[in-house]
Amino acid sequence: MIRVSLSALVTVYLLLFLAAVFLLWLSSEWNRRRRERRALRYRLRCVICAFEFEDRTDALLPRCPRCGSLNERFKPEQI
Ligand SMILES: [Zn+2]
Repeated sequence: MIRVSLSALVTVYLLLFLAAVFLLWLSSEWNRRRRERRALRYRLRCVICAFEFEDRTDALLPRCPRCGSLNERFKPEQI
């Protein structure tokens, strides 16, 4: 039988618990960032009326739903 002191056992459990929590947080944060980046990729701002809209088509020049002008696709700057 392996003899492990109670404090060592508690420490190991605590470390495992903390590691699990940290990994869960890390994965959720990573997922959130990926979702945000994907959402930003389709976000456009009209150069004429400054209306922000989403365009998920592959059109090179998406049309603004408010004023109908064509907009150039731009890369959103990283903050
Ligand atoms: Zn517009």
